[in-house]
Order: sequence, then structure tokens, then C-alpha cells
Amino acid sequence: MIAVLKRSTTQQQLDNFCEWIKSQGVGVHVYTGEYQTVVGLIGDVTKVDADMMAGLDIVESVTRISDPFKSANRKFHPDDSIIDISGKTTVGGDTFAIIAGPCSVESEEQILEVARAVKASGATMLRGGAFKPRTSPYDFQGLRADGIELLLEAKRETGLPIVTEIMNAAHLPLFEDVDVIQVGARNMQNFELLKELGKTKKPILLKRGLANTLKEFLMSAEYIMSGGNENVILCERGVRTFETYTRNTLDLSAVPMLQELTHLPIIVDPSHATGLSRLVRPMALAAAACGADGVMIEVHNNPQAALCDGPQSLTPEQFDEVVKSMHRILDVI
Ligand code: PEP
Ligand code: MN
Repeated sequence: MIAVLKRSTTQQQLDNFCEWIKSQGVGVHVYTGEYQTVVGLIGDVTKVDADMMAGLDIVESVTRISDPFKSANRKFHPDDSIIDISGKTTVGGDTFAIIAGPCSVESEEQILEVARAVKASGATMLRGGAFKPRTSPYDFQGLRADGIELLLEAKRETGLPIVTEIMNAAHLPLFEDVDVIQVGARNMQNFELLKELGKTKKPILLKRGLANTLKEFLMSAEYIMSGGNENVILCERGVRTFETYTRNTLDLSAVPMLQELTHLPIIVDPSHATGLSRLVRPMALAAAACGADGVMIEVHNNPQAALCDGPQSLTPEQFDEVVKSMHRILDVI
């Protein structure tokens, strides 16, 4: 349920109104925009008397929201959310985030070389997996804590904020200086992990699950937000379909659909979506064209020798060209 308040409402009246709602055992989410104040009611609102609320002097309208996601709902927060990344960059609104880096951090030389290259090409953040969710236990599992140390070194040298995946809430202390914590597709519905991340204030890059609907995707965001962390960035990375030529099927329509449903920023990962480096460019351009808030692209200094996801990784030179082309698209739209 949301209550839109009249423009004449004073702060005191707003506070009193929120206290009255909370006294009924319901949470509130206040959105103060330039033109209107929206109070969202979160929780079990069945006992709240909507007619009585609508009759209050300060209330302009009351609407019941049937969507199960509340904090993430655009009706609760009509403007786009802009997520601050350690005061260095933002995601959402008018900016176009470009997150780039290798699938996995492999060595000091590798991550520094890639970090320098993607920064020079205009990346706004550096990615790199330290804890890797691999299908086979016999595959490279990531450098784990050492990988995070190497990312921090690359951050110190380049100034780029870093994005890396968490797989276990017990590892959170290692993520203290990580700027954005990634929740991978396989963990999109690891609800206990999401709850723990909801207790932090870190920006969370939440990737869509392998076979999850947008509603389920938004409910996972809701898990994080309902814990008090509203800094959620959504990432469309393709879903599993009957198609086998590509690793996944990129659901680009998710971008405008999610933009209708939620105020959270949505970026696109054309690397995991296609699994093929030659398809990354067209899908990255399509992501820019369809209004995504950014992209996340895998870049490796030597894709043939990559320990993970080499076939979908761009070389720094290819990445440089893709960034330039994306900017041409962004200029047009
Ligand atoms: C990744 O970004 O490295 C990754 C493992 O992606 P996903 O969770 O989308 O498969
Ligand atoms: Mn990867």
C-alpha cells in the first residue's frame, strides 16, 4: 500500500503519520521527491484501514500495491535510485557504468595489466572473481582471500572501485574494502546470504538466476533491501533456454521491463549471456541501446590462457573498441 501525501504536509505531520503506521505493526518507506512524498507501507497491511487513511487531511491518495516486492517497487520510489560507489562513481540515473575485468583474478601481473588497460579505455569499475562458483570441483576455484588482496592492490594503483563475488556470508570480513559485492546467478536465491548482505551497507550487484523470473529476481533484491540495505544493482546475465549455440539467452527485454517495475539500476552482462567473445560487442551495444544503466564485460590480457571463461573474454584492444562504440550509441539515444 502507498499513501501519496499532499505537498502542504509538514515534517511534523509526516513523522506523526509514520509513527501511526508503525504503531500498527507495519514498516514504512518514505520517498521524498521534488514534487511529492510517497509513504510506502511494508509488511502485513491487512489490518490497516485504507479508507481511514485516505480521509486524513494530509493524504492525497491511497493505493494498494499487489506486487509482492515493495522496497524495490517503483511505485514506492518513483525516481531512479542512484547507487553511490564509495564516493568515486555512481550507478543509475544518467550515468552508464562500465564494469570490466577478468572472470577470475589469476596473478598480480594479470590483474594489474587488465586493470590498467580497462581504466585507460574508460571502465568505471574493475571486476574479478576471487571466490569462483565453478560447475566442477576440479576446475580452478579462484585465489580466494589472496585474490581479494590482489584486487585491492589494483584498486590502489588505478583508483578503480572493485567488484567481486561472495559465496559465503562467513567470508564477509574479507570484503571490508571491496566496493561492490557481487551475488552470482547461482546464489540469487541463497536467502540466508541475501539476509546477511541486507545487514551491510555495501552496494550489492545481484545477478539474475539461471532460470528465474523477474518477479523472483526482484524478490531477491527485496530480501537485501528489507534488511536495511537499499544499495542494490540488478544484473541481467542471460537465462537458460533450449538454445545451445550460446551459453545463455540474453533477455534484453528484462531491461525496460525492470525499469518499469523497479527504481533499482539494471546493468547487462553480455559475456556470461553469450559465452562467446565475438557476440559480446553486439550485445553490449544492444544493452546500451535499450537503456541499461551499464554493462559488465569480461576482459583478459590473454584470453587463450585464461583459467576461467577465456572463450567469452575480450582482449583489452577489443574492449577499448567496444567502449568507444557504446559511447556512440549512448550519444544517439
Ligand atoms: C561471474 O560474473 O563471474 C559469474 C560467475 O557470473 P554468473 O553468476 O552470472 O554466472
Ligand atoms: Mn566468468
